[in-house]
Amino acid sequence: MSTKDFVEKDYYKVLGVPKDATEAEIKKAYRKLAREFHPDANKGDAKAEERFKEISEANDVLGDAKRRKEYDEARALFGNGGFRPGPGAGGGSFNFDLGDLFGGAPGGGGTGTAQGGGFGGGGGGIGDMFGGLFNRGGPGTTRVQPRRGQDIESEVTLSFTEAVDGATVPLRMSSQAPCKACSGTGDKNGTPRVCPTCVGTGQVSRGTGGGFSLTDPCVDCKGRGLIAQDPCEVCKGSGRARSSRTMQVRIPAGVSDNQRIRLRGKGAPGERGGPAGDLYVVVHVGAHPVFGRKGDNLTVTVPVSFTEATLGGEVKVPTLGGPPVTLKLPAGTPNGRTMRARGKGAVRKDGSRGDLLVTVEVAVPKDLGVEARDALEAYRKATADDDPRAELFQAAKGA
Ligand SMILES: [Zn+2]
Ligand SMILES: [Zn+2]
Repeated sequence: MSTKDFVEKDYYKVLGVPKDATEAEIKKAYRKLAREFHPDANKGDAKAEERFKEISEANDVLGDAKRRKEYDEARALFGNGGFRPGPGAGGGSFNFDLGDLFGGAPGGGGTGTAQGGGFGGGGGGIGDMFGGLFNRGGPGTTRVQPRRGQDIESEVTLSFTEAVDGATVPLRMSSQAPCKACSGTGDKNGTPRVCPTCVGTGQVSRGTGGGFSLTDPCVDCKGRGLIAQDPCEVCKGSGRARSSRTMQVRIPAGVSDNQRIRLRGKGAPGERGGPAGDLYVVVHVGAHPVFGRKGDNLTVTVPVSFTEATLGGEVKVPTLGGPPVTLKLPAGTPNGRTMRARGKGAVRKDGSRGDLLVTVEVAVPKDLGVEARDALEAYRKATADDDPRAELFQAAKGA
């Protein structure tokens, strides 16, 4: 059974029954005609044989409640026999990409929300109906292939700690979906007609004079291939509606600012059994008052006193989300030296952690008590002969 048959053949006429005939009426009509045109009763009559085939075919469809419903819907959608194959359709094949017709509109990038198309495949939409109808055909039928869901682009802002540890965040995504009120047909009664301009292809060719032709989306039907006879009030005849959903998305640990991560299969759902698209999330990471990031490593600047730096000592250093670590400061540590606390950094892909890079910053006291001042004055006297700039002047003279 080809799609073309469904659209072009009037099985009701073949059996001579009205469109609202009951099952019993159809059965009765078929039996009567089948007897009349049976090949056994019409030996050698090619016309009768052809007619008998037609009758059987009609009964195969109309005699099966489910197939009859699909047949009725297909004919309602394409007009009764009014459908003509597109210009490129040789030999009467069905040149009609329903996937394109009912699939997603091109999505754009979004700020805060995600854009995409192809949602709503699970809602019993028109795509499903055609999926069931057209996938059944024999040779020569256009099979509507499963369609992969669209990729969706979105962005999210994480706190510094969430980015290091990973986080599950709600992501609101909106997309184009078939209008529920009209099952995506754009027509109030679900019976749009095929666009006469593009004969349902949604595209028109225009010659360029050089033997080439370009294809543009059809203006009359806005590329849909269908025109609403009585436009749906909900979608104004477009057949599309916005649908949004909120999804919990797991952002892996260790993402950095402006990183674009791909979450496989978290995009728009596929249609007709196709796989879901991917979700791309651009991550923005907020600053932390204390810690910074350098790849897998975290950074922190720790003030140390002049005596700690000079005499050495143990310095307690905060870590992100964990207990502080104690670093041994060697005697004579210069200002700005960076030391490493292993395994106290950000989580890597393999679950291990980077390091915490600790930069010491010698703190200069503003106010000194009397005792401290006296001690420092004594220190000044003791080091009067040390000139910290001697090397500088020496070096400035040379070369
Ligand atoms: Zn058109
Ligand atoms: Zn609608």
